Amino acid sequence: MTAERPHALLSASAAHRWLACPPSARLEEKLPELQSSYAAEGTLAHAIAELKARRAFLGLSEQEYKAKLQELQSDPLYEPEMLTHTDIYIDYITSIANGYPSLPHIATELRLDYSEWVPEGYGTGDCVILWGNTLHVIDFKYGKGVPVEAEENPQIMLYALGAYSAYKMIAAIDTVKMAIIQPRLRKEPSEWEISINDLLAWGENIRPIARKAYEGRGEFNPGDHCKFCRARFTCRARAASYLSLEDDYAYGRPLEMQDEYPDAPLLTREQIGAAIQRAEGLLEWVEDLKRWALAECLAGRPVPGWKAVEGRSVRQLSDPDAAYKALAANGYDINLFYERKPIALTAAEKIVGKTQFEAICADYIIKPPGKPTLVPETDKRPAVTNVQSAAEVFGDIIETE
Ligand code: SF4
Repeated sequence: MTAERPHALLSASAAHRWLACPPSARLEEKLPELQSSYAAEGTLAHAIAELKARRAFLGLSEQEYKAKLQELQSDPLYEPEMLTHTDIYIDYITSIANGYPSLPHIATELRLDYSEWVPEGYGTGDCVILWGNTLHVIDFKYGKGVPVEAEENPQIMLYALGAYSAYKMIAAIDTVKMAIIQPRLRKEPSEWEISINDLLAWGENIRPIARKAYEGRGEFNPGDHCKFCRARFTCRARAASYLSLEDDYAYGRPLEMQDEYPDAPLLTREQIGAAIQRAEGLLEWVEDLKRWALAECLAGRPVPGWKAVEGRSVRQLSDPDAAYKALAANGYDINLFYERKPIALTAAEKIVGKTQFEAICADYIIKPPGKPTLVPETDKRPAVTNVQSAAEVFGDIIETE
C-alpha cells in the first residue's frame, strides 16, 4: 500500500474546518484516525501523478518510471482510469510551463511550510511552478464527490503561503495563480489568481484563529465542516445544534413571544426555510451516531438503550452456476436462469477509460433533466419552477401595447 502523507495538527487540508471551529483541532487529536478506502485510492493516484510529473519535468528515466509504475499498479486499489486522470493533471502542468518563454522552475510533492502564519503548519504541495514574479500552486484531487473551487480555498491558500515562504528569497513574487485539478469531476481546472499582498493580508487575518486552534481555544461551531471531523460522532456542540431544533418550534412558548410568531399553530415560510437549513445534515448526524453506537456495542462497550443484533438476512445460492446446472439436469431450460443486460455507463467508462469512452460513445450519451431537488439559495444552478412563462404558454403571439 502507498504511504500516506504526514499531517500537521493544523493541516491545510483540514483548514476549512479548524478555521470555522478552532477547538476542533485539539479535540480531534485525541480521537482515532478514520482512514477510508477513498483516501487510500487518492494517495495511490497522487503517487502516479507525481511519478508522471517527475518523468515529464524532473528527468526521471523511462526505465525508472516503468519500474515504479509497475509497482504502483500492483496495488489492489489500482484502476486503469488512474492513468488517464493523471494525464489531465500532467497536461495542465505542461500547458502552464509551455506558456512561458523558457522552462520555469517546477517542483512536485514539495513540503510547504506555512508556520510563519499557522503554528507548526506544513503540508505537501502537489506542484509548484515559479517563473519570474509569478508563482503557480497546483493541487490534484482524485475525489469525485464534491467539486472543489480554487477561489478563496484555505487549503490551497495555505500551500501558496508555504510556497511563497520557500521562494521569497530568490524571486520577487507578486502574483499567485492557484489551480485545482479534479479530473474525475471536470476536465477544466478551477483557477484563481490573487496578488501576493492580498494573500499575505489573508495570512495575517487567519493568524489569530490559527493560534486559538493550536491552543485548543475558541468557540465550537457546528456546520458543514463537521462531516470531516473525527469528533463528529460524539461532539456535544454538534449534538446541541440538532437537538435544540425542537425547542425553537415547540408549542407553549411564553406569551411575550407570541408576537414574533403570529400564526402560532403553523410554521411560517421563513420558519420552514430556517428549519430546513438547521436540519440539513440531521439525518447524516443520526447515521453517524448509529454507526458509532454499533461499533461500541460490537466492541463490548454497551450504549444504554441499544444493542447489536444480527440483521435480517436473505437466502442466497452459494454457487449459482452449480445450482442452475442441477436445474438444467432436471429438465429446465438453463437460459431461463440467466439474463444478459448492459452494465451502467460509469462501469463501462471505468473499463474503457473516460476519454476513449466519450470518443466512441459520444452519440449515445444523453443527459435527461434531473429530478427537481431542494438546495440552498447559494447553489449555483438556476432555479426551476413548474410555473410556465408567458412565452411558453403563448409562444410568439404575445401582443404588446
Ligand atoms: S464536530 Fe463540528 S462542532 Fe464538533 S468539534 Fe468537530 S467541527 Fe467542531
